[in-house]
Amino acid sequence: MSYITNLKCKECGQEYPISPLHVCETCFGPLEVSYDYARIRAHISRGAIEKRPHNLWRYRELLPVEGEPEVGPHSGFTPLLHCGRLGKELGLKHLFIKDDTVNHPTLSYKDRVVSVAITKAREFGFKTVSCASTGNLATAVAAHAARAGLNCYIFMPEGVESGKIVGSSIYGAQVITIRGNYDDVNRLCSEIADKYGWAFVNINLRPYYTEGAKTFGFEIAEQLGWRLPDHIVVPTAGGTILPKVAKAFKELKEVGLVRSGDFKIYSAQAAGSAPVIHALHKGTDLITPVKPDTIAKSIAIGNPADGYYVLRAVRESGGWGETATDPEIIDAIKLLARTEGIFAEPAGGTTLAVALKLIKEGRIKRDETVVVSITGNGYKTLEAVASSIEQPAIIEARLKDFDALFERLGGRREVAGAA
Ligand SMILES: *Cc1c(COP(=O)(O)O)cnc(C)c1O
Ligand SMILES: [Zn+2]
Repeated sequence: MSYITNLKCKECGQEYPISPLHVCETCFGPLEVSYDYARIRAHISRGAIEKRPHNLWRYRELLPVEGEPEVGPHSGFTPLLHCGRLGKELGLKHLFIKDDTVNHPTLSYKDRVVSVAITKAREFGFKTVSCASTGNLATAVAAHAARAGLNCYIFMPEGVESGKIVGSSIYGAQVITIRGNYDDVNRLCSEIADKYGWAFVNINLRPYYTEGAKTFGFEIAEQLGWRLPDHIVVPTAGGTILPKVAKAFKELKEVGLVRSGDFKIYSAQAAGSAPVIHALHKGTDLITPVKPDTIAKSIAIGNPADGYYVLRAVRESGGWGETATDPEIIDAIKLLARTEGIFAEPAGGTTLAVALKLIKEGRIKRDETVVVSITGNGYKTLEAVASSIEQPAIIEARLKDFDALFERLGGRREVAGAA
């Protein structure tokens, strides 16, 4: 059973049937899926959701699919971790990490949006799926396409991390790297989508794809006991996830799953690719594209498709945004790993580094609930931190060599059980 009604232009309100369309023919605005919230409200309950399997489809009434989804059985429902040790360092009592480093099967938030997009591609009868990607989307599309039995073409800018190239090719996808940056790749892919008739998850299936990002927000609310956090910090690349998390929180109120509550949402960008934050700080709606230059490659989009909606969601909530430099990103990756045992990729380092600034600025207070969104796993981006970690010690396999090393390191012997 489905509760979707149609596609609607976000700018002029013109309606279209549910189909692989993404821009309004009248005003070129983006199209978004509409739902019958009154009917959802009558049919949905916390108890029913809580009994469902631990994947993103537990919120299927609020997702744009028709039948029983077969894509992404292990995607979503990632942990929301209360972070005592990190919280103590930052002076916060209620600090949580939403941990998509362990999203399945490809270890980033992109498994959510792709599960929905590929389910929809199958419903529409596409045989080939594709995407323009900064890396994580590539691995997610390749993996989910393999399981769904679809042909797959992946387009990425040259210079993305090798983990993302290997991690796409391994699934049998045809990987094509483009001499240029993400924005060049995206432009080419729009032309290919028109000419070849493939399902580009983030182009012609974009209205469905973006809805998958809401599940990040739905889960946070459920995991907080059907409450909204006071603050949530979210990374911004193309601008999908941030407005959709805000939409998710509003929908939960609309359908009665969350009673009330306000939240402030904050955008995090790498200093080397921060067109949205520049506009936010200038107080304008006009986003001036930049040429990205940062180690945070997965969020290095200089001309974000939905940047305007990020600004709108941030301002409407009373939130804010900041940037983080590459050294700040690396320090934050290390801080999170050392305090909480979570190894984030640079996008996560960016988000945490920005959260630190927001705390310093006094925007986030000690007793308030804060969620920091960690959207991708550091094992795919080892080169970002490889040169800034201490090299391992090397010794012969002799106890006295270890004794000497241990002495130099200033370590202490222990007796288990002794106080
Ligand atoms: C894609 C991505 C994001 C956010 O991208 P949006 O286009 O703004 O949704 C954040 N973190 C990681 C790791 C990503 O791969
Ligand atoms: Zn329109």
